[in-house]
Parts: sequence; C-alpha cells; structure tokens
Amino acid sequence: MTQELNFDVVVIGAGPAGLAAALATDQAGAKTLLIEREARLGGILKQCIHDGFGLVRYGEKLSGPEYAERFIEQLPGSGVTTWTLSFVSEIRREQNESILTVITREGMQQVRTRALVLATGCRERTSRQIGVHGRHCAGVFTAGTAQYYTNILGKLPTRRCVILGSGDIGLIMARRLTLEGAEVVGVYEAKPTPSGLTRNVSQCLWDFEIPLHTSKTVTRVIGDARLSAVEIASVDACMCPIAGTEEIIPCDALILSVGLIPENELAESIGVPLDSKTKGAVVDERNETLLRGVFACGNALHVNDLVDYVSESGEIAGKAAADPLNCARGLVPVECDHTLLYVVPQRICRNAAETERIFFFRSARDMDNATLTITKGGNTLVTKKFAHLRPPEMERLALTFSAEQLNGTEPLRFHLEEITNDK
Ligand SMILES: Cc1cc2nc3c(=O)[nH]c(=O)nc-3n(C[C@H](O)[C@H](O)[C@H](O)COP(=O)(O)OP(=O)(O)OC[C@H]3O[C@@H](n4cnc5c(N)ncnc54)[C@H](O)[C@@H]3O)c2cc1C
Repeated sequence: MTQELNFDVVVIGAGPAGLAAALATDQAGAKTLLIEREARLGGILKQCIHDGFGLVRYGEKLSGPEYAERFIEQLPGSGVTTWTLSFVSEIRREQNESILTVITREGMQQVRTRALVLATGCRERTSRQIGVHGRHCAGVFTAGTAQYYTNILGKLPTRRCVILGSGDIGLIMARRLTLEGAEVVGVYEAKPTPSGLTRNVSQCLWDFEIPLHTSKTVTRVIGDARLSAVEIASVDACMCPIAGTEEIIPCDALILSVGLIPENELAESIGVPLDSKTKGAVVDERNETLLRGVFACGNALHVNDLVDYVSESGEIAGKAAADPLNCARGLVPVECDHTLLYVVPQRICRNAAETERIFFFRSARDMDNATLTITKGGNTLVTKKFAHLRPPEMERLALTFSAEQLNGTEPLRFHLEEITNDK
C-alpha cells in the first residue's frame, strides 16, 4: 500500500452526476479526485446511443455519449484528478473525514478527504428480485445488459423476444432491437398503465407498431440451455396472476425492465441513513446526507427520469462539498403523505432561508388538475397547480422560504389533491 493521499473532495462515480459534481467542486477551488471503476468516463450514458438527452439543459437533442462529452471535454482544462479502472472497495470515517480504500491498476491506495460525493448510480432489478418461476436458463437479460450487448459489443442478444416491464430502458430497447431486425413480440406490464415516459411510449412503441399489454406479467420461463418460450398471464388489481389466462409465447429471450435501485452499499457501510421510499440517502437541499461531509447525487440519490436533472443534482452536491457548512444545520424535516411517491430533499436547512431550493417529487398516481400544497404547522406556505401528474414523470420545483416560514420544529408537509369536476 502506498502513502495516504489527501484531497478536499472525492467524487465516487464518473457518470453524469459525478462529472458535474467534480467540475463544480473544481470551479469552487477545491482539490478534487474523481474515481471511476470502468475504463471510460460517462457512466451508463456510454451505451445510450439514442437521442433525447439534454433537452432541458441545452435545448438540444443529444445522444448519451454526446451529452457526457460536454462534461468530459472540460476535464483536461480543469484541476480535477481522474482515476479510471479504480474501485472504491471500502470507506472508513474518522471524525468528520472519510478514508477510502481504492483498488487501482497501480495497487491499493488510501485517500483521505473532508468531503465525499457519492455518485454511484443505480442498478437494474433482475428476474430473481421479481420472482419469475422456471429454470434460469440463458436468454434472460436486463434491458441494460441487452443495451450493452447491442450498442457496445455489437452483438444482437435475441431474434424474437418478450419485454417484461415498460420502464424507459425497456421501451428504448424495444425500438433498438426492432431497428436491428429482431422481432419484439410485445411489451408486457403488470400495472394498468405504462411505467415509462409518455414520449418514450409513443416514439418507441406506437411509431414501430410494437404492442403494449398492460395488466399482464410473465409467470414462467421455459427452456433448458436457452430460453425457448415464456408463459404470460393476466393479473388482478393486486398484481396476482389470474388462473386460466396463461398463454405460451415462443421466443429466445426475455428482457426485463422492471425498475432501478440506487446503488448505495458504500453509503450504508458508513451508516448514511437511507429513505425507504427513494432507496437513496436522506439529504438536505445541498444534497448533504445526515452524515456531515458526505453528499449524494444523481441516480444514487433517487432514480431520475431525465439526465439533465442528474447533472443539476451533481452540481448542487459539488458546490456544497467544496464549501462544507461548519455550523449546526438546523434541519427541518420534509415529509409527504400517500398522495406522493416521494419528495427530495427530505430535509431543509433552516439557516439557509431566502435561498432558492430545488425539490423533486413524483405523484403516487395519475392526476389531472392537481394542486400541490406545502404546509408547516397548520400554515399553508405554497400552493401550486399542475395540469397533469404521472408517477413516471418527475416534477421539479424551485422554492424560496422566508426565515419566519421555517421557524419551529414542525415538518414541511407535501400533499396533492386532484380537483374533480363535481368539487
Ligand atoms: C442500464 C441503464 C440504462 C439507462 N438508459 C437510459 C436511457 O436510455 N435514457 C435515459 O434517459 N436514461 C437512462 N438511464 C438512466 C440513467 O442512468 C441516468 O439518466 C443517468 O445516467 C444517471 O447518472 P448517474 O451519474 O447518477 O449514474 P451512472 O450513469 O450509472 O454512473 C454511475 C457511475 O458510478 C460508477 N461507480 C459505481 N460504484 C463505484 C465504485 N465503488 N467505485 C468507482 N466507481 C463506481 C459506475 O461505474 C458508473 O460509471 C439508464 C440507466 C440504466 C441503469
């Protein structure tokens, strides 16, 4: 093991969140190290060769690699030290500092830092996690793995497939595989409505006449060495398969797009409290976790729908990590009821009144003409109307509160209400 190195800020993960965070800390004058376990920077964007990235940030339709390049090309002119093929295997805490063990090509390195930014992304749920029955033979892929085979390795993983789940990656892969000459028999979704963005349902399924079957799931995979068919069944309102509705669909692959989970093993190992709703860290508006000096951003914090927001959250975390608060934070809890899936941040800092804070939330169900109210101790601080809210589409809110509004220990409570015509 070599001598311990010292950095003001260490960013783990060089996807869009980590790249934005590292550039922001560098611009704020902090000595920054960016660590990435893969050989190339850009995270998952490297394999997303379709367009649609950067509409919010740049007003342009970029591919994933083009979007990532906008950040990567700034690195040589910055002071950021970048390590690729380097894996953070362990973090220890000493007072408010973090000591990282990093496996690199040159051997094991110890790095000490006063501020750590976790930008480790998310991972896909697998067939084991959703309990698909049958032999787990070859031919069962997550949509991200199928995307990696097709776009990075140039190998077609299927000739005729069924896609389970209508998350965005599954929708994008339905179109991608069709363009490569494979037959996508259909996308099957257990819920009554699709899980992906409306624009992806339209551009990836309807434009290519790929059928979407809602309230249906895969109950069994069939095959020995390689998958040869799947069994599909309708599901009831509780998502339980309905006996007698089974049908067998011959195919050579089952592609799963059944959800993403923030990657937070490192955060958990140092005791960062996680939110059971987002599966990411509990943070304040500066994206600082409840462990001082540890920040989280991007998909490690919560699964974002647009990469533009991922970069924004990286910048927020980076700026704050470069200039950590050395005073008590005075945190006000932020809560939501059953009408929302979640709200981030889950805390706000009372000391930072009058500054603009960015909130992200998702509604718990489809709503038209909805009103969001934010209350504190019986006082209504904010009301805002939304024409349409859909759980797959994340909402962004920029809000400013006065010191007076943030007085007291009561939480800020988010609540949504749909205004029906008979009200
Ligand atoms: C398979 C997949 C496909 C996707 N496709 C699309 C798409 O088509 N369109 C779309 O809009 N969004 C897509 N997304 C969503 C996309 O992930 C986000 O928009 C965005 O890329 C998330 O950025 P991030 O920086 O938070 O995470 P990522 O891009 O996942 O980057 C995280 C980085 O952290 C690194 N890392 C993790 N742990 C460690 C460690 N211990 N040590 C060192 N490095 C580490 C990883 O190697 C990775 O490079 C996809 C997500 C997944 C998982």
